[in-house]
Amino acid sequence: MDAAEKPIIIIGAGLAGLACACYLHRAGRRVLVLEAADAVGGRVRTDLTPEGFRLDRGFQVLLTRYPEVERLLDYGALRLQAYRSGAVIRLPDGRQTTLHNPLQRPAAAFTALTAPIGTLPDKLRILNFVRHVRSRSSGQLLSHNASNAQDTRSFLREYGWSEQIIDTFFRPFFGGVFLDRNLSTAANFFEFVFQQFAKGEAVVPALGMQQIPEQLAARLPAGTVRLNTPVEAVEGTTVRLWTDQTLEAAAVVVATDGEAAQRLLPAEAAPTDLRWRQTTCTYFAAPAAAGHPDKLLRLNAAPDALAHNVAFPSDVAPGYAPAGQRLVSVSTHGAHGLSEAELAARLQPELAAWFGPEAAAWQHLRTYVIPYALPVYPAGQPVRQNLKVTDTLFRCGDFAAYPSQNAALATGREVAEMLLA
Ligand SMILES: Cc1cc2nc3c(=O)[nH]c(=O)nc-3n(C[C@H](O)[C@H](O)[C@H](O)COP(=O)(O)OP(=O)(O)OC[C@H]3O[C@@H](n4cnc5c(N)ncnc54)[C@H](O)[C@@H]3O)c2cc1C
Repeated sequence: MDAAEKPIIIIGAGLAGLACACYLHRAGRRVLVLEAADAVGGRVRTDLTPEGFRLDRGFQVLLTRYPEVERLLDYGALRLQAYRSGAVIRLPDGRQTTLHNPLQRPAAAFTALTAPIGTLPDKLRILNFVRHVRSRSSGQLLSHNASNAQDTRSFLREYGWSEQIIDTFFRPFFGGVFLDRNLSTAANFFEFVFQQFAKGEAVVPALGMQQIPEQLAARLPAGTVRLNTPVEAVEGTTVRLWTDQTLEAAAVVVATDGEAAQRLLPAEAAPTDLRWRQTTCTYFAAPAAAGHPDKLLRLNAAPDALAHNVAFPSDVAPGYAPAGQRLVSVSTHGAHGLSEAELAARLQPELAAWFGPEAAAWQHLRTYVIPYALPVYPAGQPVRQNLKVTDTLFRCGDFAAYPSQNAALATGREVAEMLLA
């Protein structure tokens, strides 16, 4: 590497920017990553509280079979801890039913006659669909033109699934993944995500999701990532910081979220029609549970609930809570119009009805309202937008593809490959 060589400047140290930086550095190119925030990770951040809880900024998991994740991450060093495949579903009438491995071993999962989730033909369709997604590559599913033109809800209906299984299984499960309980997300993305759950595991690093971007940043030479360095503008190959300082680059990669990309990129390359899915994650502390945890997600099929998904991260990765305590993560998707205190107060009776009266005494720890969680990915949107703006200006991030860690990492890699070509 030539020290006099101008660096490739990457704006944003989220997964996309870090992936791009890692591939370029590995190929011997000089890179400089400018990050506005006080740590790397973007939407993948974890806070350590004074009491010793690790709070991911919103409930989030890593899917182990994401192709880009398999390509880039060192799983062993992250000490990944897995949720059990399946879920406990709370039905609108308050009954609960447990699905073990519904997407990995659908036959076993759905034979329980007592599982009030869907009809026998529904269960056979799951079996068929698992076969379908297993027989295709993830790239084939993502670029499946027919399903790309359809939203998930109409795709499920057209496939023949009953309204009952859509409401009691697909809506709470995939609505939680898409942060979209209407299931208006494009069906090609549904097919891809279904495949990931059918083939792999949902995991978290032992010490929180932020360990993922930190692992990538640690591969870069010291000084490569500059934190607390917001970029104001890009003018050709000159990058202007908020401090008015300017930096000269060999090429510039805008690897921010879509909102910032809109401001930094020239109008013709800025993301258009940018809309977001919102989620709110409310954390509570509970006393440690006795016995072996089932490590299953809890999904709520009740249409008027505020507690949509509940997880116990410390059951899966004990480092998420101090000894003797249990971390409870409650997700509410979409806009709710409540203050944090109002939301917590409304959640507690719901949780008590669901988990027993002791839940009313769970201690509210912190609330993360995340208005810009996932870019909306509607039917008909291309699976990959242009990443190259000019010979010296590129863009990457989930806004340029579909709403997933895999997309952020993939677009980061693809931009690095273009720069190296
Ligand atoms: C609550 C939640 C749950 C999620 N769950 C999942 C999940 O389970 N599975 C999954 O695959 N995906 C999930 N996602 C989505 C996933 O986290 C994102 O798709 C991915 O992290 C996006 O990465 P990115 O690099 O494209 O963007 P970002 O993470 O947004 O990174 C952009 C970076 O650019 C920086 N930046 C912005 N403006 C400037 C500027 N002017 N100057 C310098 N830096 C700037 C930002 O500070 C940020 O660090 C979830 C997201 C959220 C919020």
